[in-house]
Amino acid sequence: MKIRVDDITDQPKILSFQEPSEAFPSLAELQATGESEFLSPLMVELAVSKEYGHIRVKGSVAVKIRFVCSRCLVPFDADISSAFTMFYSEGSRIDSDEDEIELAEEDLVSVFYEGDEIDFAPEIAEQVIMELPLKPLCGEGCKGLCVTCGADLNEGECGCERTTFNVKFSALKNFKVEK
Ligand SMILES: [Zn+2]
Ligand SMILES: [Zn+2]
Repeated sequence: MKIRVDDITDQPKILSFQEPSEAFPSLAELQATGESEFLSPLMVELAVSKEYGHIRVKGSVAVKIRFVCSRCLVPFDADISSAFTMFYSEGSRIDSDEDEIELAEEDLVSVFYEGDEIDFAPEIAEQVIMELPLKPLCGEGCKGLCVTCGADLNEGECGCERTTFNVKFSALKNFKVEK
């Protein structure tokens, strides 16, 4: 996932590769928590070109991930993908604070590199992490687990009596009317 800066010209260079999630330290760490499991390698496509003193990287990443539903706790698989544009500028973060703010407003990723080689791996891993749901759901309509007996309500009613928000709300409305 590295490219020599000298090899980059104003003609976009297309890089296409597959890398296992283990090749990305931050993704390997994520997998170790057990919350998500990478089922496929990361499929990455990049177009790298030189442009006005910086390097422009337009690309996409796709990967299949197994999550655990935050409501019913059943594992499910989902395809995660992200399209992005990143700008690499030579120098250190401290020197170029102003540039970074400007680019952030446009919702573009601005990165600084030093030396004669750029490694895209950390930013690609970051793109994947940003796409991960905070509360994964197996489906929009997931009914979750019964708070009383723990049964998976997607598989049918368990027969427990559960007080729902709607019941409470209508009771409150009646109370106000009576007053
Ligand atoms: Zn679910
Ligand atoms: Zn129940």
